[in-house]
Amino acid sequence: MKDLPNIILDLIETTKKHEQYRKKECINLIASEGLKSPAVCQMLDLTHDLATRYAEGNNNKEGHVEKRFYQGQKYSSQIENHTTDAIKSLFQTTWADIRLISGTHANTATFKGLALASKNNKMAVTPLSCGAHISHDYTGLAGSILGLDNINHIYNINEFNIDPDKSAHIIRTTKPGIVTFGGSLFLFPHPIKELKEACKDVNAYIAYDAAHVLGLIAGGQFQDPLREGADFITASTHKTFPGPQGGVIMGIPDTPAKEKAVRKIQHSVFPLTASSTHLGRLPALGIACFEMKIFGQSLAAQIVKNAQTAGQYLYENGVKVVAEHKGFTKSHQLALDIREFGGGNKIAQELEDANIILNKNILPYDDQSDKENPAGLRVGFQDVTRHGMQEGDIKYLCDLMMDVIKGKRSSQQVKVDVMALKEEFSQVKYGFQSVDEALKYAKM
Ligand SMILES: *Cc1c(COP(=O)(O)O)cnc(C)c1O
Repeated sequence: MKDLPNIILDLIETTKKHEQYRKKECINLIASEGLKSPAVCQMLDLTHDLATRYAEGNNNKEGHVEKRFYQGQKYSSQIENHTTDAIKSLFQTTWADIRLISGTHANTATFKGLALASKNNKMAVTPLSCGAHISHDYTGLAGSILGLDNINHIYNINEFNIDPDKSAHIIRTTKPGIVTFGGSLFLFPHPIKELKEACKDVNAYIAYDAAHVLGLIAGGQFQDPLREGADFITASTHKTFPGPQGGVIMGIPDTPAKEKAVRKIQHSVFPLTASSTHLGRLPALGIACFEMKIFGQSLAAQIVKNAQTAGQYLYENGVKVVAEHKGFTKSHQLALDIREFGGGNKIAQELEDANIILNKNILPYDDQSDKENPAGLRVGFQDVTRHGMQEGDIKYLCDLMMDVIKGKRSSQQVKVDVMALKEEFSQVKYGFQSVDEALKYAKM
């Protein structure tokens, strides 16, 4: 092995290379990666002391700091409260918890809290193969860490959605304590309204995992889960929501059952699953909330428009985009069935060689044993949209993708055009360029 000074030389050099490569030279179509504005980045840079502090303790029913165990927190407690209020204000909720360090952490605390509140260890989830996140599944967090039993929603492969009638029947006969919606391959709003009655009949809590679509919800361009009947939303703050990496849980606890759930969820945050809550990200998260208040609607609308434009254009040009009969998508994502051109693994690699970054993805009707070369690709448009691309630019990007997919030009040839396109769209739009600009808007 190399000695430590040489390891550090390599570490610093590869870090610089990464920043140059992914930030300056590649076009990012990974559906789970957000794009922070200069103001959010600047705020993160201004909070290095905060990022070294601890704030363990309890919160009250508004989600505000109630009790902390260490001294020196007169400002950090206020920062937590202000950030909580920013989230509550943006999403019009009466309670939020922003202490979660990731979406998986938010799910951990929520699933545990709801299992405690319902005294029921059964949770209805979308099958993993149909877009659920691994944290929902019995093979992941839900089953292997929390010991929850999964019941599967019945998924309609033609509609790329949960089948409401059949799933209502499953819920009524199996009586889970938690019913989850939301997912990682997530093209169309899930049937919360349609399943609300069945959940109520068996006293199940409804949890909606908005990790992927939180920014679209903030912009009013996707279903509004709490208004449709969900009890709690869990999410990452860094996918379509363009904040720092972290997690959030929110709700409107207006019944004794939901108030009880809030207490159990808070208990599951601290002391059960959090010690450091990574305070340094909180002011930046607040700034991102304000950006979404001001720019969220136009940003989210353009993201969805760009995804649909790409769906139509790729489809017209012979690439099988799934769910054609439904307009391809209502979110930021598309799913492509790329078998005809060699499968998800081969094409994702060839696109990477052309500096177009996305991921292979298993499709609901895929051979579930062939995870290495699934039929699908998942394509997300939140990053390129925030860089300012509109429909015409998206079609040009699709042309570059199809050159690779169809083998018309080599990846190396396409890469030159991809890098030029990235340079043209290097700014971050729909956000503040500095903390000062955020202040200016706040004083308006
Ligand atoms: C990404 C994702 C998560 C996990 O979020 P992290 O912030 O990466 O921990 C949870 N649920 C869904 C549906 C996701 O897509």
